[in-house]
Amino acid sequence: MGNMSELELILTGQTEQHIQWLSSNIGIHHEMLSGFSKLQAEAELAGIELTIASGFRSFERQLAIWQNKFLGKTAIKNVSNQTIDIEQLSVDEKIHAIMLFSALPGASRHHWGCDIDVYAKNLLPQGQSLALEPWEYQASGHFYPLTLWLAEHAQRFGFFLPYDKFRGGVAQEPWHLSYLPLSQHYQQAYSQELLAKTLVNSDIQGKRQLMSILPELYQRYIVNIATTE
Ligand SMILES: [Zn+2]
Repeated sequence: MGNMSELELILTGQTEQHIQWLSSNIGIHHEMLSGFSKLQAEAELAGIELTIASGFRSFERQLAIWQNKFLGKTAIKNVSNQTIDIEQLSVDEKIHAIMLFSALPGASRHHWGCDIDVYAKNLLPQGQSLALEPWEYQASGHFYPLTLWLAEHAQRFGFFLPYDKFRGGVAQEPWHLSYLPLSQHYQQAYSQELLAKTLVNSDIQGKRQLMSILPELYQRYIVNIATTE
């Protein structure tokens, strides 16, 4: 990828130079450290232990997720949380089924380091593990206080929820927070051409079909997010 700028490498998950590691597997953009700390401290006052489940993810990591789903090594679920029989799907249908929950490598906002998946550690019932599924964050779920709290306070600290509801592309992700002071810059700099260049240079499964429907995928899954004012 010698012909890509530092910004392009950040946008497509091919560098970690912008990442500050908080633990062995959780890293966030170094320019978001203070913004996130403030959000976390405010949440603490409301009795919510705001915790990052997933931060930065590299192109290679996202590619592994993609390849495993495409090849049937990891289950692909539908919105009702049922496993799909991929043998019955065309390549096109398989691509759409994966993209409901998993981003294309090179197109995940987690590459940027300013997008994180969060939960409330202290609200997770004893003995239960985190599923990162909408029911946990909905009215009868244990993280509902977090959902309400984020709706009221996140914006004041620069955070928004790009996948607040289903818009026909990516499924609703009430846990996915984006730090606007950084992400709006990355969002503006990102392009379909950059994604195409990244995928052409990779060995991604379904590449030929992906390239032929890329404009549609770009509109439906990548730029189809909540608007911010
Ligand atoms: Zn996420």
